[in-house]
Amino acid sequence: MLYPLKLNPVYKEPIWGGKRLREVFGKNIPSDRTGESWEIACHKNGTSTVSNGFLKGKSLKEVIDKYGIEALGNKIGKEGLKKFPLLVKIIDASDKLSVQVHPNDEYAKEHEGELGKTEMWIVLDAKPKAKLVYGVKPGVTKEKFKKAIEEGTLEELLNFVEAKKGDVFFIPSGTIHAIGEGLLIAEIQQNSDTTYRVYDWNRVDSNGKSRELHIKKALDVADLSDVTGKEKVIGKIVKEGENIRNHLVSCKYFETEIITIKKESIEKLSGEKFDLLMAIEGSGEILYKEGKESFNAGDSFFIPANIGDYSIVGNCSIIKSFIPII
Ligand code: ZN
Repeated sequence: MLYPLKLNPVYKEPIWGGKRLREVFGKNIPSDRTGESWEIACHKNGTSTVSNGFLKGKSLKEVIDKYGIEALGNKIGKEGLKKFPLLVKIIDASDKLSVQVHPNDEYAKEHEGELGKTEMWIVLDAKPKAKLVYGVKPGVTKEKFKKAIEEGTLEELLNFVEAKKGDVFFIPSGTIHAIGEGLLIAEIQQNSDTTYRVYDWNRVDSNGKSRELHIKKALDVADLSDVTGKEKVIGKIVKEGENIRNHLVSCKYFETEIITIKKESIEKLSGEKFDLLMAIEGSGEILYKEGKESFNAGDSFFIPANIGDYSIVGNCSIIKSFIPII
């Protein structure tokens, strides 16, 4: 019988990483330049492993390959059975990330043999006046955009937005974006690792090398429509007794909500889909038919489709993501 799988993350150490994954969540990061914790990951570039129960030590991929629909649910579809659809990360940007864009499914399949990447961000913590790039200023054409890259004046065309704790951003494939310095972000995305870098702030690494840019592909996929004033997601808040459920995003690829729990929240699960949970505040327990699993802020779980309804008990905030059931 499957059970809520608590996962060990995979860490990545890009040049812009920091140490807040340890400071905020007590994570055992490999260095003070740890930028990404792939919390719920089943990708060739990183797979989480189970840290509890009889599947301890197995990778999420091994579990999914073995249990298939029992784990993923009967609405997963052929593609989803072949490739796990989602990836959940925490990103600590002690310096800014490159200005980048991701392709859609069609382009990514043709050029990278990968899924496209639509993503969303939930700001977990922000230094005062932290900002990010979300799209470009109104009236920017591909010609202007290309010229500005060549002339080194791209920053003038970018749409900078201030971001604070609790802000939510939805980034469809094609949107030019960059996470700014001082932001700690939960990211829910399609399971893809394809990024086209447009501009890297003229930065070099400790060996004096700059990172590769992918201008042509970026220009192919960039959608420069006007997004100003529509940057932040306004969630739909539903009060459930003492708890609050905030529906943030519902798109073709994923649905995401934040549940703020005072004592207990019952989550329905009937074999159709799996749930991905990440605790971002507080602590508690996940109770299911056969037992319980405890958690603290920063812990992430894969909830298999076949475990039935479960409840989250505690005083905590949880990010819950799942694939839409059509
Ligand atoms: Zn991105």
